[in-house]
Amino acid sequence: MTYSTEQKRKELEKYFEEKSSFNILRVAQMKRDWKKANRRELTWWESTYIPTVAGGIWTTSTHFFRNLFFHIMHLFGLYKNVSAAVTYQYPEQKRPLAKRLRTRHRLMKREDGSPRCVACMMCETVCPARCIEITAAEHPNPNIEKYPAEFKLDLGKCVYCGFCVEVCPEDAIRMDTGKLDTAEYSRQSMIYDKKRLMEE
Ligand code: SF4
Ligand code: SF4
Repeated sequence: MTYSTEQKRKELEKYFEEKSSFNILRVAQMKRDWKKANRRELTWWESTYIPTVAGGIWTTSTHFFRNLFFHIMHLFGLYKNVSAAVTYQYPEQKRPLAKRLRTRHRLMKREDGSPRCVACMMCETVCPARCIEITAAEHPNPNIEKYPAEFKLDLGKCVYCGFCVEVCPEDAIRMDTGKLDTAEYSRQSMIYDKKRLMEE
């Protein structure tokens, strides 16, 4: 049996009214049922798995022989500009990161070097891991209400969800340093203070 989009919508509407964990589970169950009902049956040839296994072997062999060829060529000083490895030799060779990837945080600065943050506490409030701790103080400039006397972010607890960046009204916190390898010898040193976050 297959479900039309209209049928799906009608069935789901019953569960939209009340938002309870039972209804969320029910919707997930229904989605699984739709997928199962619409799944195409395998043909006899496909059910032997021979085409899939052969395809996998072909892909692996292509990579293997390509890399082998270029490794041998590199030994003779040829094709040096073509990479033969399929793995990144970390940490010497770093993998390029996608621009939108959320990496370690940094606090943005004003032109005078002070933090752009106005200690509105939005990020602290929204943080699901409760890893931001801000101490607000009155700003000497009458045009700016507050500034963070202290801004602590515990990277040992952070789940890199990016909510703090999304919610910030001043674009004062960003996750674009491109740094992912945060390693320390103690939990205490995983807590980054304002100075450290502004240096990033
Ligand atoms: S990325 Fe998420 S978990 Fe980490 S500090 Fe921001 S809001 Fe909290
Ligand atoms: S949301 Fe932005 S301005 Fe507000 S406290 Fe956090 S970093 Fe500062």
